[in-house]
Amino acid sequence: MTTTSKQALKTHFGFDNFRSKLQEDVVKAVLKGDRDVFVCMPTGAGKSLCYQLPAVLAEGITLVISPLIALIQDQVDRLKSLNIPACSINSKLPVGERRLILADLGSSSPKLKMLYITPEMVASPTFQPCLTGLCSRGLLSYLAVDEAHCVSQWGHDFRPDYLKLGELRGRLPGVPCLALTATAPKNVQEDIVQSLRLRSPLSFVSPVFRSNLYYDVIFRELLPNPYNHLYAFIQQALALDKGSNGQGCGIVYCRTREGCETVAHQLTKLGVLAKPYHAGLKAGDRTEAQNEWMQGKVLVIVATISFGMGVDKANVRFVAHWNLAKSLASYYQESGRAGRDGLPSSCRTYYSPKDKEQINFLIRQEVARKQAKRGSEKQTDKTAITDFDAMVSYCAQECCRHATISKFFGDKMPNCAGACDYCRNPKVVRAQLERAATLSTKTEAQSKGPTGPFGFQPGLYEGGKKGYGFERYDEGDASSEDDGSNRKKEFSDLFKRQMNMRKVADSQREVFVPPDADCPLREASSQRIPRLTIKAREHCLCLLQEALYGHQGAEDSFHSLHCLLCL
Ligand code: ADP
Ligand code: MG
Ligand code: ZN
Repeated sequence: MTTTSKQALKTHFGFDNFRSKLQEDVVKAVLKGDRDVFVCMPTGAGKSLCYQLPAVLAEGITLVISPLIALIQDQVDRLKSLNIPACSINSKLPVGERRLILADLGSSSPKLKMLYITPEMVASPTFQPCLTGLCSRGLLSYLAVDEAHCVSQWGHDFRPDYLKLGELRGRLPGVPCLALTATAPKNVQEDIVQSLRLRSPLSFVSPVFRSNLYYDVIFRELLPNPYNHLYAFIQQALALDKGSNGQGCGIVYCRTREGCETVAHQLTKLGVLAKPYHAGLKAGDRTEAQNEWMQGKVLVIVATISFGMGVDKANVRFVAHWNLAKSLASYYQESGRAGRDGLPSSCRTYYSPKDKEQINFLIRQEVARKQAKRGSEKQTDKTAITDFDAMVSYCAQECCRHATISKFFGDKMPNCAGACDYCRNPKVVRAQLERAATLSTKTEAQSKGPTGPFGFQPGLYEGGKKGYGFERYDEGDASSEDDGSNRKKEFSDLFKRQMNMRKVADSQREVFVPPDADCPLREASSQRIPRLTIKAREHCLCLLQEALYGHQGAEDSFHSLHCLLCL
């Protein structure tokens, strides 16, 4: 049996080996077919193969439920390129094509191996006769529910239509069902099993802990120049890739569209090629930014959470959150896009109490709005609030970051071994918290004027509607030109200039020789230091920065250093 699945892996997918023992075990269990299967493995672990390989080897058709048409399209295209007969029925499909697919499904021996479908479509009356027909003829080999966490109201991406899948499952008693997700705390796991009516499923859950990810938290308000700080972080994270093949890249997540624009602009100004990505951009600009990032032309994509679902890039060296994620589960998923190749990568959150107040306000407002609309309270309403509180505690606690995440997901204590700021140096974490506490007392004493709930000043706040309060994937109209085309033009000019500078620098790159030991570095008060080129200064800055990195007050020293070296 192992040989056949391994052969099929090579013949149909071109892979020599399974990604992991877990992937192989899941495939074996699915092929056995006597039990339902639940899979929780991180993004990029190769979950799709767990149903695609059995689907190819089975007699009949595998029905795959997936939440987004874009994700479906991606998978179907990939399968088609492998000559595996797969297709999708969705609302965007031309009538003619749909008819052809339905005709194949209605035939005595359908050619199709996999049919991808959204939960909405599965429930639609037009699809029912087809489904019943397949089932009664025994042609349904598996039911695979991808992104299964969407079924749970406790989860961070609840989709009401997923609830209908339980009923569907009930009508297909003899068909083995496979539920897959990347992020599911214990309560969500239980919810999935119950809602999809899985029968005593075999569970395959990989541990949450990923030792190649270094997690840390920086209090943004304590920084003299946050953009420089972010820039230094990016430089350091990307430097991790030197020597390995290919240029690494990164993601900066921001809450609002405006935030994305500003951060991308600032980073580009400092010299790292960065582009914004959010639903306020025209679809073409968005695709361009994503493609350029995928190809490594743009090193940093500065995005709202609309970016990332289904993006499959191995060498993401860092994920920085410029604003707090809306829950610890979302944070784990978003930051988890780093280091899929297993190489060391960094995940950083820039925490700000102001941010916290704003998001807290938005979440509570949204919960109140939902309750008002419904006219009643629900137990799950609190989830949004408690999940966000978990995110805040992650930032504001003196505790191993990995441990906090593992505990949230109900996992056992991981062996962090210095893969977070707390385990590397708890004193630094404490000092930062103390400085933040001092700062907040000072600010409180100074602040006058009326404040809203939670000390938040609603008048100062803008852009929340377009941020990630509760909006899924930053959906919305892409037509807002209100920022003015000037700003856009200015950014595009700046971007081009930096791009050109890089090209020139690349073409003229000569081997760098560090300054001699007798180079007159001591004359630091002078603006010009003979025999010390900008390149040499940059080299020194890098060395010093590395040495200072992680130490108390490093960012201040870094700032003064920058001034000192006149960079
Ligand atoms: P997930 O759904 O878990 O996020 P995917 O199924 O999208 O992950 O797979 C991520 C990537 O891993 C894809 O590019 C896929 O082709 C690749 N992959 C899957 N299985 C293997 C394997 N056994 N060997 C090599 N690459 C694999
Ligand atoms: Mg997947
Ligand atoms: Zn730790």
